[in-house]
Amino acid sequence: MTHMHVAGTIHADAVSAAPVWLSKPDDVNDLADGLWSAGVRRDSDGMMSIGGLRVDDLVARTGTPVYVIDKADFTDRARLWRDAFGPWQVYYAGKSLLTLDVVRWIRDEGLNVDVASEGELAVALLAGMPPERIALHGNNKSVSELRLALTAGVGRIIIDSADEITRLEKLCRELGTRAEVMIRVTTGVEAHTHEYIATAHEDQKFGFSIAGGQALVGMVRCFHSRVLDLVGIHSHIGSQIFDTNGFEIAARRTLRLISQFREATGVELPELVLGGGFGIAYTRADTPEPVTDLAAGLKEIVEHECRGFNLSVPLVAVEPGRAISGPPGTALYTVGTVKPVELGGGQSRRYVSVDGGMSDNIRPALYAAEYSAALANRESAAEPVLSRVVGVHCEGGDILVRDDFLPDDVQPGDLIAVPASGAYSRMMASNYNMTPRPPVVAVEDGNVQVLLRRETLDDLLGLDQGVREGNLHDTR
Ligand SMILES: *Cc1c(COP(=O)(O)O)cnc(C)c1O
Repeated sequence: MTHMHVAGTIHADAVSAAPVWLSKPDDVNDLADGLWSAGVRRDSDGMMSIGGLRVDDLVARTGTPVYVIDKADFTDRARLWRDAFGPWQVYYAGKSLLTLDVVRWIRDEGLNVDVASEGELAVALLAGMPPERIALHGNNKSVSELRLALTAGVGRIIIDSADEITRLEKLCRELGTRAEVMIRVTTGVEAHTHEYIATAHEDQKFGFSIAGGQALVGMVRCFHSRVLDLVGIHSHIGSQIFDTNGFEIAARRTLRLISQFREATGVELPELVLGGGFGIAYTRADTPEPVTDLAAGLKEIVEHECRGFNLSVPLVAVEPGRAISGPPGTALYTVGTVKPVELGGGQSRRYVSVDGGMSDNIRPALYAAEYSAALANRESAAEPVLSRVVGVHCEGGDILVRDDFLPDDVQPGDLIAVPASGAYSRMMASNYNMTPRPPVVAVEDGNVQVLLRRETLDDLLGLDQGVREGNLHDTR
């Protein structure tokens, strides 16, 4: 169990500019610290391998930057979540890492999937996820998105606003169909995480407020609708959460709401979604609880609260995203330049520039997310040096790993690996500085499977309507 650490907190002593949570490792080559996917190890010559494939062989085929998913670790985690939480339902939050093959893995492990846009819904459907196992989220779903969901027959539409009730009812009538819906509520719980990713406190865009009374009004309105079937309520309190306190309060408030709804209508709603946001280890300071303990804790909380409100235990669902897709992912970069920077007071920081950056992982720049780094293509006997891994972009905030120790002899051409990179990295990637987005590959038993190929400059230029006949060849 741990707490969020504050970026940039400085040690009192003058010799280290490291944040307080980061200590110098005994062995800078060590990978056995809960940060790396199960299939990551060092061969006897020091070369890192992932899923049985040496990273030099891997990057010879894919180039860098590349996002590597340890497939066995991904599917093991999916299965672990399903088994630990069963008979509760597990919806994988697709937005964390979504490709057709990823959806097939999720489907084959018996999990459901959450989507949050028309594009994500299209991927899930194309991959062959049974529509009844798909839930559609979003605070401003478009008409065409809702229409696709209704015609495809998705299992759940999570309604986020009064306007959406109107829009969905109209569409159902037009299409002569019905929809099973849930109401997204805000419980007022402020998850202990970065402000921008805490989503259930009141002053934000998601859901119907319980405290403000809109939640019950929305529920009753859906209940009386002739085309909507209200099956339950949905809460999601934030992301990268390490303790169950927030979930306990959210469970109490949502179950109280279910009992108030019972008083108002005589009907006990059968389903409750507690959302996702379960924290993972991005650094050695993060120590998430084992999934089995987490599941047991949440089940106990829900059962206890149900007794308190004299409710039968509903069918509960959880929505892990990063907890399944984050740890199996490793980003690989090539070092281009290494630069020591004097900070004054005898402190220095070494900047290691790699061939990616905020275009492939915006999270450090967006909300000060922390990551870790290791030298991947060899071991080193050199001293660990406080380093900052930065990208190629024209922004001072273009940081990939704000603080970690790397060996003193890191040099251009070395490979840097960033663990816990599977979630919200490539999915949030941009083409800033006209940068083609990197590929996502899966490795298993020494084999590579490309999930998303690398973008090319031609892909990007293909969007530019100013390109004239023959122009494309001028860049070659
Ligand atoms: C993003 C999201 C999740 C998943 O969050 P993680 O931090 O990846 O577990 C789950 N539910 C909803 C509604 C979300 O928006």
